[in-house]
Parts: sequence; C-alpha cells; structure tokens
Amino acid sequence: KPARKAEPKGPEKVPGVAHLIAIASGKGGVGKSTVSANLACALAAEGRRVGLLDADVYGPSQPRMLGVSGRPASPDGKIILPMRNHGVTMMSIGLMTNEGQAVVWRGPMLMGALQQMLMQVQWGALDCLLVDLPPGTGDVQMTLAQKAQVDGAIIVSTPQDVALLDARKGVDMFNQLHVPVLGMIENMSTHICSNCGHEEHVFGHGGVRAEAAKLGVPLLAEIPLHLDIRLASDGGAPIVVSKPDSPQAQAFREVARHL
Ligand code: ADP
Repeated sequence: KPARKAEPKGPEKVPGVAHLIAIASGKGGVGKSTVSANLACALAAEGRRVGLLDADVYGPSQPRMLGVSGRPASPDGKIILPMRNHGVTMMSIGLMTNEGQAVVWRGPMLMGALQQMLMQVQWGALDCLLVDLPPGTGDVQMTLAQKAQVDGAIIVSTPQDVALLDARKGVDMFNQLHVPVLGMIENMSTHICSNCGHEEHVFGHGGVRAEAAKLGVPLLAEIPLHLDIRLASDGGAPIVVSKPDSPQAQAFREVARHL
C-alpha cells in the first residue's frame, strides 16, 4: 500500500535559516522598508550572514534601497537564486514582477508567491532572515506565520497617533499568531535639519516609547527623520553603508547588535 501523502504541516523552518524576523508596520510610509534595509546592512556589518526577503507586495522597495536590479535566475525553473549586495542576500517580489506593474493579486496568489520566496529561493546558510512585510494585518502576515517558523517580529511606527493605533493592531496580531514581538522602533522620531542640526518633533514625540511601555514590549530605537537617510535609500546604499559613522547609522547598528 503506497504511503499516504503527509498532511500539510504547521509552520516549517525555512531551510538554512537560523532566525527569521518579520519587520512589520500597521501603516504604510512609516519607514518599515528603510528600517529593514538598514538593519540587514547593519547585521552584515556585524559579520552575520543575513538575508532580506521583501514581501511588501504592494510597494516592494528593497531593489531600489539595496541597489539591486534584474531578474533572479532560476536554472531549473524550480529553485530561484537570490540576489546579493552590501553583504545582504536578498529577494524581492519586485524582482519577480515588471517594474511599474501594479500587483492586484488575490489571497491565494499572494500566498503562492510568498511560499515560493520562502521555500524555493536558495537562501543558503543564514544567521538571520529579515522579512519586510506589507503594512497592516492581512493575508501575507497570516501566511508567513502559518507557513514559516517566525522567531520574532519588530514593529515600526512613527510617533503619530494614527500610525500608533495601527501599530497596536500589529502587536495584537503577532500575539494571536504566537510570534514574539521583539520590540518597536520609532521612526521619524524627531526631524534633524541637515543644514543646522536643529531638532523638531514633526510627528509628535515619545508616542512609541509610551506605547511600547504600555504594551510591555521593548523600544529598540528612535530613528530621526533625516535627509541623509532618504537620500541614502534612494541611492541604493542605505545609510548604514554609505555613512557608517553617522549617528543615524549607529542607531541601526545598535539594534542589530542585540538581534
Ligand atoms: P514603508 O516601508 O513603511 O512604506 P519606507 O521605508 O518606504 O516606508 O519610507 C517611506 C519614505 O520615507 C521613503 O522615501 C524613505 O526614504 C523615507 N524615510 C523613511 N524613514 C526615514 C527617515 N528616518 N528619515 C528620512 N526619510 C525617511
């Protein structure tokens, strides 16, 4: 009698990956991708073997932020070879679709694409795989936690009330999915003028610190809104790589050291 095909299993370890960490945000545009790119580069700078999976299906920005372009090779039409830059092994949904093409996928297609990027990409041996999630609490987040063993999640938020409210939902979602929340990162914490160094609290101040305390999760960093961070990301070399001695880069390095 032929052996019965195994029932679909619960979360599986991504082959070769020691730690999988999801980077999430409740809302778009709060700097989740910026944080992901800089943390990946910071981990690489610490000598860790690091991968970054850009699963932000609605706005994949890692190819631009990490300065990667072209189609990933698939020698046998099955396995997919990841790309690499700044010491980071990476794959992005943006490299699998045509640039400028809007992704209007339904749940099952999203799940298929995510599954493929997790399991068919030859990540190799990695100490840490960061997954840059789409904003919110939807299919991709659920699928990730159901299919792959997620060791922790980091929530990125700005100090603004509206962004915070959504971040709170994010913490709640990971609690429900039994994924430990490693902490929150406040991005655009204060604005530092690149001309005179004047500091201004554009989006309010201390909101994420207070929220993290309320939710009982650590505040991992407060990253200022700084022109250099945006310029570096747009130029394809995150600030951790392009201005490693800047205080902004140091803030990311500090988080990476404790991951
Ligand atoms: P998300 O992934 O949450 O949608 P992004 O990381 O794409 O957000 O950031 C949105 C925009 O804001 C990008 O142009 C990025 O370069 C810029 N940005 C993000 N964080 C900062 C920061 N701390 N200082 C300056 N610009 C930032």
